[in-house]
Amino acid sequence: MSRPAPTLGNPQNTIEILNKYKFVFQKKYGQNFLIDPHVLEKIIRAAQITEADFVVEIGPGIGTMTQYLAASAKGVAAIEIDRALIPILQDTLSAYDNVTVINEDVMKVDLKKLAEEMNGGKPVKIVANLPYYITTPIIMGLFENHVPAKSITVMVQKEVADRMQVGPGTKDYGALSLAVQYYAEPEIVANVPPNCFMPRPNVGSAVIRLSVYEEPPVKVKDEKLLFAIIRASFNQRRKTLQNGLGHVPELGIPKEMTVHILEEMGLPASVRGEALTLEQFADFANRAALLKEQS
Ligand code: SAM
Repeated sequence: MSRPAPTLGNPQNTIEILNKYKFVFQKKYGQNFLIDPHVLEKIIRAAQITEADFVVEIGPGIGTMTQYLAASAKGVAAIEIDRALIPILQDTLSAYDNVTVINEDVMKVDLKKLAEEMNGGKPVKIVANLPYYITTPIIMGLFENHVPAKSITVMVQKEVADRMQVGPGTKDYGALSLAVQYYAEPEIVANVPPNCFMPRPNVGSAVIRLSVYEEPPVKVKDEKLLFAIIRASFNQRRKTLQNGLGHVPELGIPKEMTVHILEEMGLPASVRGEALTLEQFADFANRAALLKEQS
């Protein structure tokens, strides 16, 4: 079915809508609206949206990307916290009969249930120009709650996109890199300068696509233990792994256990968490789980 082409996505039409509704930007909500049609088209292409897809959009703003999504997808659910944007969305999305706007804080929405209801349990696609102040909790929430998603294509701060994509031995490598790479294959698909937004953010941005794995690339006995170990390692970034883990008694991995496992793995006793790959963390967590069971 062919749907109307988007009308938003350039500075002139955006300003017109903002003036019509006397909209006041709320800094606390991370409101930077996209005003570049090329970037919008790139996001839709990167997300590989087809007529068969159901899409969840987080933070539709005045509905710019929502129009692009609605024109390409089967259905769109858009979750927006700012009540002042709801009448605007009703106006800008009036030509599309396949969009549902939900006026809620995304952190309070049961996205797993929403996604399951939308697509009869089959995975949806998640697309967003995310509010930067809660990028990490949103992405971690999608993974940890096992929201059925085929892919997550999001605009984030450039530095955060880099952190999601890097491997060990770089300064950006950390708990976010490992969590993202456990659940998905990340790929930065575009770098986006501040002048593509209104108002301009004071950081560079990037679009990253996370293609969600059906099965994680490493097998672990206890996912919670794996992530507790990863968090403890990076909380104490400058510390060796044995000291980092030893400082978190709840983990139940005393120094001697770490030294023993590292020896078994053929790694130096002085190794830092930032040097370990996801596979090595998984191996470490499985060995620790076994030793904990035995003790
Ligand atoms: N998608 C629009 C665009 O690209 O022009 C707007 C993107 S803007 C970076 C982020 C949007 O997320 C804003 O509309 C903001 O009000 C909304 N937002 C911020 N915090 C939110 C939350 N906790 N739940 C839902 N929406 C939120």
